[in-house]
Amino acid sequence: MATAQASKKTGQIIDTFAKFVVPNYRRYGIVLERGEGSWVWDADGQKYLDFFPGWGCNLLGHCPKPIVEAVQDQVAKLIHVPNTWYTEAQGLWAKMLSERSFGGQAFFCNSGTEANEAAIKLVRLHAPKGRYKIITFEGGFHGRTLGATSATAQPKYHEGLGPLMAGFVYAPFGDLEAVSRLVDDETAAIMIEPIQGEGGVNIPPDGFLQGLRSIANDQGLLLVFDEVQTGCGRTGEWFAYQHFGVTPDVMTLAKSLCGGIAGGALLTTAEIAPSLRPGMHAATFGGNPIAARAGIAALEMIEQENLLAHAKRLGELFRERMTALQGECDLVQEVRVQGVMIGVELSIDGTPVVQGCMDRKLLVNCTHGTVIRLLPAMNLTEQELHDGCDILCEVIKEQTG
Ligand SMILES: *Cc1c(COP(=O)(O)O)cnc(C)c1O
Repeated sequence: MATAQASKKTGQIIDTFAKFVVPNYRRYGIVLERGEGSWVWDADGQKYLDFFPGWGCNLLGHCPKPIVEAVQDQVAKLIHVPNTWYTEAQGLWAKMLSERSFGGQAFFCNSGTEANEAAIKLVRLHAPKGRYKIITFEGGFHGRTLGATSATAQPKYHEGLGPLMAGFVYAPFGDLEAVSRLVDDETAAIMIEPIQGEGGVNIPPDGFLQGLRSIANDQGLLLVFDEVQTGCGRTGEWFAYQHFGVTPDVMTLAKSLCGGIAGGALLTTAEIAPSLRPGMHAATFGGNPIAARAGIAALEMIEQENLLAHAKRLGELFRERMTALQGECDLVQEVRVQGVMIGVELSIDGTPVVQGCMDRKLLVNCTHGTVIRLLPAMNLTEQELHDGCDILCEVIKEQTG
């Protein structure tokens, strides 16, 4: 229960932010203090069931034991090793990612947007002379640095920032004809989230990614998949591309890559990789031993606890619960699920649903105005799933009246 003293503490912390932290985020008036699995506690001692842990970063829940132990062990040995030296952990991490994806090589960085910047530079460095354009997709999201923002085909993220980086052209998600029309003799690559996350959990129409692969092959373009949100087990496969039978040339990862520790990666084939030649790109903290140990621990935990299969099972349960809700409630337009990546499209603004859930101690997200997005931990229990879905269904139904 909230005590007067704890609430005062919350107020003081929020005050400090108002004075000293750049106000570029809209924040909820809650101070989070600790987490365990799919639960978080605030400074007032209130407990929340978290269906959006760490904005997609905490795919293994809050403070998963293997990650905590790996980081605690590493932090006492070596905190940072620059990339002028070798560490065992970075090599092993790259090998493990390679073996679970398409057998290439890794470049490590610290975030999703950085991984995508690396991809953009790699595309340009690898392309034949005169080719530099990258086709990206409406509703996509690739990050907040200026290159990645330019790749993000959503005008709301561009306002006031122009001129953007040149060389991006935008196609509607799902429209192969449009992509074909946009390819010219300056095009170097197609870059896409195989399932759009921030854009509303949009699953590509049948044959779309295959079609992009064909266009890329025919025209000599690189196919880049941004799997920052969909990767590392989120969808019930290691990587979302594995659901579609389409292999990219370049893949970017971050968010859940290190079980909640900051880390990013670009994977590409051994043929393409040397285009990112020495001196052309770097990340000071990239592949540091803490991220590497956490990344390895995350992969091992997913395997040891059989979490890919569990994520698929959870996805089926979420689909059942949300489809049942759709049958009972006119506000639900569409339910889109791939593993523990869930979008519930409403016919109304989702903000009151997020607030209503929060009042009942369930944390969810709304993206694209009308899509309730859930990115729960892949080790959520079935009981937690049902408890959370009960709250979410209740809150959505209440919006009708
Ligand atoms: C979150 C996200 C990014 C940006 O990642 P950061 O770590 O915030 O830079 C890029 N691409 C996709 C698909 C994302 O979901």
